Amino acid sequence: MKPSCLNKNRGWLLFIIALTLLTPQALLAATPKNIILYIGDGMASTQRRVAEEVYKRRLAMNTLPVVGLYTTYSEDSIITDSAAAATAMATGHKTENSVISMDAEGEIAYETIAEAARRLGKSVGLLTTTRITHATPASFGSHTESRGDENNIAIQLLDSDFDVLMGGGRQNFVPKGTNKSRRWDNRNLLSDFRKKGYEILQDRDALKSLQIQKNTRVLGLFSDSHMPYYLDRTEEIPSLAEMTRVAVKILSQNPKGFFLMVEGGRIDHAAHGNAPAGTMGDLLEFDNAVAVGIEFSKSAPSTLLLVGGDHETGGMGMGIGGGYFMKPEVIKKVTRSEFGMGYGEIMKDPDLAYDVLKKYAGIEKLKPEEKKLLEVAIQHIKDGKGLKSPNKTYNPSWLGYTFSNILSQRSRIGWTSYAHTGHPVMLTAGGPGSETFMGFYDNTDVGLKMAALWGVSLKSWKVE
Ligand SMILES: [Zn+2]
Repeated sequence: MKPSCLNKNRGWLLFIIALTLLTPQALLAATPKNIILYIGDGMASTQRRVAEEVYKRRLAMNTLPVVGLYTTYSEDSIITDSAAAATAMATGHKTENSVISMDAEGEIAYETIAEAARRLGKSVGLLTTTRITHATPASFGSHTESRGDENNIAIQLLDSDFDVLMGGGRQNFVPKGTNKSRRWDNRNLLSDFRKKGYEILQDRDALKSLQIQKNTRVLGLFSDSHMPYYLDRTEEIPSLAEMTRVAVKILSQNPKGFFLMVEGGRIDHAAHGNAPAGTMGDLLEFDNAVAVGIEFSKSAPSTLLLVGGDHETGGMGMGIGGGYFMKPEVIKKVTRSEFGMGYGEIMKDPDLAYDVLKKYAGIEKLKPEEKKLLEVAIQHIKDGKGLKSPNKTYNPSWLGYTFSNILSQRSRIGWTSYAHTGHPVMLTAGGPGSETFMGFYDNTDVGLKMAALWGVSLKSWKVE
């Protein structure tokens, strides 16, 4: 009686159709085709909130429906560095500070979610405003005992066969002896990438005029080292939003989907300098790149968007001293980063400092205590100690340091450290599977949750 099996199958068929008709989302929810992971380096909830007050709007990242929070400690410290933090988010494993996607002994390599995406036949992209070989992007595409080994990381990125790699850091891709090269060998990785069929992009025009075809692969290197702060960008260097738009266009051609990591890498650097304007400028740029992902997800609903940080930097505080008020408008007026203002011509003629503050921060009249701070800085430069500020590591120019101080005081933004802190980090999420990112968990869970949504278990292997 042939008809019965037909009836049985027809029953199943109807059930499936009903389900899809009833709640298509329910069916798609668990397995996103694409994942875009945004990492604001050094960005936690305070940085997000200050930016909303400075720019007087809801940030795109804070419009995503799901909110989570995670701890960031590493294997050897309550306070992580970016290498151990990104390793946890990319592989689901803890390691020691400065180690890249390996165990602390450097014997076992941990597969990253980006490598697993490749294994699934998906396309993969990594974007950053730091060097593309720096700790965060490196943790998604390479394995090494030391984050400092950027020459080697550049080679591993070549071997990764990822489809899109864009950021700064040309210095690790050109042979030693070449202008600005930081390689210790004669390897010309630009030509190695070209031989593998990559388009090499080195400025904004090249990015804008890129002809995207089915198998387009891109290596974009837009500066020798880190890209300039957003407030200091010049015309020929693209924004993170422009890089994201092109990356998504390339990667979304793959019917199996893609994984894209987008890092706002220099929020951290500015926060290390306790520089509020620089921090906010790069955070704004990062949020513009998030807005590109949200726009894309409207036409590609099977896209999971995750926006988090790797750790908090600077111990940023909203409000200082005794007062119940802040002045975020002070930061909104600033058109150049504190670092950009504190270097260049001004180091030859430090008395320009007053004009620089007027020109780029709109500060016409200084308070007596501010005048004193500036005179000390100017004198240090005249004494040849211009790069020995109290924040020697991250904000060595006495003028950059002093501008950061004046703007922090005036805007009522406080700082507890020149380094990272152990604050838990906020994550917002939207799209299929985003509900699994609700709650309070650990940074290793970020990697594990992504892998679970794709039904993959991340591997590890002994390094010979
Ligand atoms: Zn940092």
